[in-house]
Amino acid sequence: MQIIHFIFAFIFGSAIGSFLNVLIYRLPRQKSIVAPHSFCPNCKKPIKWYENIPIVSYIFLGGKCSNCHKSIALRYPIVEALTGLLFVYAFSRFHLSFEFFFIVFFFCALIVIAFIDFSFQVIPDIISMPGIAAGILYQIIKGDFLTGLIGMIFGGGLILLIRVIGGRVYKKEVMGLGDVYLTAMIGAFVGFPFIIPAIFIAALVGALLGILYIASTHQNRESPIPFGPFLAIGGIAVIIFEPQIYQFFVLLGVYL
Ligand SMILES: [Zn+2]
Repeated sequence: MQIIHFIFAFIFGSAIGSFLNVLIYRLPRQKSIVAPHSFCPNCKKPIKWYENIPIVSYIFLGGKCSNCHKSIALRYPIVEALTGLLFVYAFSRFHLSFEFFFIVFFFCALIVIAFIDFSFQVIPDIISMPGIAAGILYQIIKGDFLTGLIGMIFGGGLILLIRVIGGRVYKKEVMGLGDVYLTAMIGAFVGFPFIIPAIFIAALVGALLGILYIASTHQNRESPIPFGPFLAIGGIAVIIFEPQIYQFFVLLGVYL
């Protein structure tokens, strides 16, 4: 019977992922997220309900618009599948508790921010600001208000510090204010000291991919590499590996 629950969690999650795709497309373009209905970005043909079934429709349409045959971005099925899998994970760990709803909200906010920042080098405050409030509320309900508050201040404060010092040294913006709010949001959700490994993982993955990118193109990238997607990876990884990271902190004597 367990498998049926997981299938439902995946279907529900991928349907939410379909909505996240709408946010990812419309938020940075300042378009309404409720109206009009979804349409092909190329030929503007409205998308019928049976062409809008998560993952299935993409495969059925062969990854192309049924009208103009222009390729549909691979981002659509990727976001739907990723959201579905993260819902299955959250459900397997938290079941239908309040924690499930807060954690899937956290995952969804990170997915939307990561994909928008990746394409547009901007982090929408309209997601990160309510995200900070939701993270603090989550900690209050868990009875860990201080953990969340310190995590938020530490995360946002550290990135703000890097922004100020980096700006003085390099005479250009090394971190946007959007990164500050995003890290504050992650800090509120994962709490202190878990915000430290979240930032560490983000910096590590960012540095590795940055080196690979420069090595593969043999040139320095003109536009700055957005940090938001790496922070999102750090935030999600810390939630998933929370028990292992906790054990690591115990080994270090942090909780002794
Ligand atoms: Zn089309």
